[in-house]
Amino acid sequence: MATLNADLHCHSVVSDGTLTPEELAARAKANGVELWALTDHDEIGGQARALAAARANGLQYLTGVEISVTFANETVHIVGLGFDADDPRMLEGLEATRGGRGGRAREMASQLAAVGIPGAYEGALKYAGNPELISRTHFARFLVEVGACRDTAEVFRKFLTEGKPGYVPHRWASLKDAVQWISRSGGVAVIAHPARYKFTANEEYALFSEFKAHGGRGVEVVTGSHTAAEAVRYAGTAREFGLAASRGSDFHSPGESHTDLGQLPYLPDALTPVWHLLADRIR
Ligand code: AMP
Ligand code: MN
Ligand code: MN
Ligand code: MN
Repeated sequence: MATLNADLHCHSVVSDGTLTPEELAARAKANGVELWALTDHDEIGGQARALAAARANGLQYLTGVEISVTFANETVHIVGLGFDADDPRMLEGLEATRGGRGGRAREMASQLAAVGIPGAYEGALKYAGNPELISRTHFARFLVEVGACRDTAEVFRKFLTEGKPGYVPHRWASLKDAVQWISRSGGVAVIAHPARYKFTANEEYALFSEFKAHGGRGVEVVTGSHTAAEAVRYAGTAREFGLAASRGSDFHSPGESHTDLGQLPYLPDALTPVWHLLADRIR
């Protein structure tokens, strides 16, 4: 059963991906995905299109979102799966979370202007299919366009990350709010790509403990953001905390993402797949 090709993490033009929900569904199907979720950042406006496209391609579907959270002064991503996409508290919460992005983007642009890269706000906005979701990814694409860097990975090394020009710290949703928006609307909350956070062992323990205490039930074990060794490590964490395991490519774009939809190892057999908790939410 863990040999289901589930891809429960990817992005469309509704946030910082470059493909439409329809293009993603077709690509997922072509890559052998059987169960799919579109998980745009802080926005569920693509869910109806994704569900329709999943149906048209014969894919099983779970609603999805990836919520930005601030925990211990670090940004953590919480994936929500199988929630009710019409839930008013979820919709209001996400709207409030998105509200800070415009001002942050203007500050990022003024820092970049100060190091000789003018016009970055307007430049990034061109890449944002959804202006409310203007993100570092869109700035990265603009910096590649103007020749400041060769690719977006280099942009994140030289700009837009802590201590580098263009990095503006931001307060996102609380862990408790994000987990509750998801679980109270019938979904399962999942800690996204846990190996990517710069936490001490104590902070990571606190993240998993508090996440569980708020009602969180899953963790990404196999993701495009984990090495094989990291997947083994977080399989252990899933067992330690009694969490179900999720699997997702975190695909953003054919040119930028090294892991394509559905093209990743299966979940280890000993773990409970997160979709076992969501059998009645699969459409
Ligand atoms: P934001 O929500 O505006 O802070 O942007 C975060 C997004 O930037 C993530 O969802 C990734 O898509 C992208 N990102 C963050 N760090 C990197 C990195 N080192 N390389 C490539 N993309 C990154
Ligand atoms: Mn992203
Ligand atoms: Mn993420
Ligand atoms: Mn993601």
